[in-house]
Amino acid sequence: MDRYQCPECSYIYDEDAGDEDEGYPPGTPWAQVAKDFFCPDCGIMPKEDFEKLA
Ligand SMILES: [Zn+2]
Repeated sequence: MDRYQCPECSYIYDEDAGDEDEGYPPGTPWAQVAKDFFCPDCGIMPKEDFEKLA
């Protein structure tokens, strides 16, 4: 599965791990994360600006 990093801070959304604090259980694909998701760490970076990690 893929990982997506916030370009503003070090937060990474890992599809394998999900983000249970945000309501996404492990295995939740990035595509299913809400369109209005903002980085939970810095709070300013929208989902669309996250960068996919190779
Ligand atoms: Zn961030």
